[in-house]
Amino acid sequence: MVEVVLSCINNVRLMDHANFQRYSDQKPYKCIGGRIEKSPVRFTIPLNGQWHVVVDKIGFQTLANSNVRAIVPASSKSASSSAAKSRAVSNNVQGVYEAERPDSEAHVVTRIINELNTYKQIANTDMLTGLANRRAFDIQLEGIYNEPGKLPQTALIICDIDHFKSFNDTYGHAIGDTVLKTVAETIRESLPANATPARIGGEEFAIIVEKASLQQVQLIAETARRAIEDRMFIDEESGTDCGKVTISMGICLADVAAKMSELYQKADLALYASKKSGRNRCTVFDESMIDQQENQEPAPPNSRRRQGSRNPVRKEIELRL
Ligand code: GH3
Ligand code: MG
Ligand code: MG
Repeated sequence: MVEVVLSCINNVRLMDHANFQRYSDQKPYKCIGGRIEKSPVRFTIPLNGQWHVVVDKIGFQTLANSNVRAIVPASSKSASSSAAKSRAVSNNVQGVYEAERPDSEAHVVTRIINELNTYKQIANTDMLTGLANRRAFDIQLEGIYNEPGKLPQTALIICDIDHFKSFNDTYGHAIGDTVLKTVAETIRESLPANATPARIGGEEFAIIVEKASLQQVQLIAETARRAIEDRMFIDEESGTDCGKVTISMGICLADVAAKMSELYQKADLALYASKKSGRNRCTVFDESMIDQQENQEPAPPNSRRRQGSRNPVRKEIELRL
């Protein structure tokens, strides 16, 4: 038997094989067997039996927010003595490395860690592009508002592919997907280590830049914009030359917004200004954009200002007063 303690993870079930089969035959996410406990969870599992770690969909957020670091055998042997044993075994030329022996504690624990890390990665990743998804990105951005000292050196950049709808209409959705992947890769490759990209919507990307001045942020955005403008978009499978792809960007410093939603709205206004003034450019938010937005005629149905959360900057500010 091995005892495993999972810290800070809820909605994790450990099931033996029979229970797991019953579980998977039923509706997904309905737990029939296994154990459900609040964190920290202590499991006792047989070394030789087949077992499954199951994470309910509802638990994805908790799991992805948690740090899957504290999974240790909690048997009479301490983690360090177990590690020492692993070393001892691996030093023995005749022996098999402990973590590779299917009946060893180290092997069981390694498998649990690997499975949980897989869930964690799935919950944080945009499957098409491999970038962070909106959920993971927002957690990082929200974190900056919990550490006000970081705000003056942080910025949000929102990027939106220009005329992507007509691109899809011309070349088809599959090639559109390939372009999304290439744009994501190009943005990621162009960024320095202090900038984190994500795909936050259909053809929208966002970047958090930390520890940077406004000028540095502008340079980072401009470099990414130009890298995409300069890239050849040729679909390898069909050989289709898709011509140029461009993106428009909106930049907002984190300390001009009181909270994350306001930062998004202000960066979005800057992005809208980029779109309006010809696309394929970067614009920094300034307060006059709020008044301009107020005074403008109703936006045409397809414009960015019609989309979901595009308008409420004024409302947010009034509410704060
Ligand atoms: P603008 O320059 O104003 O941003 O114009 P646009 O055509 O890019 O903007 P619009 O919002 O009208 O269209 C966005 C398009 O993005 C519509 C949709 O077909 C496409 N799109 C969104 N998600 C995906 C996706 O996952 N794959 C593909 N291929 N297309 C997507
Ligand atoms: Mg868009
Ligand atoms: Mg677009």
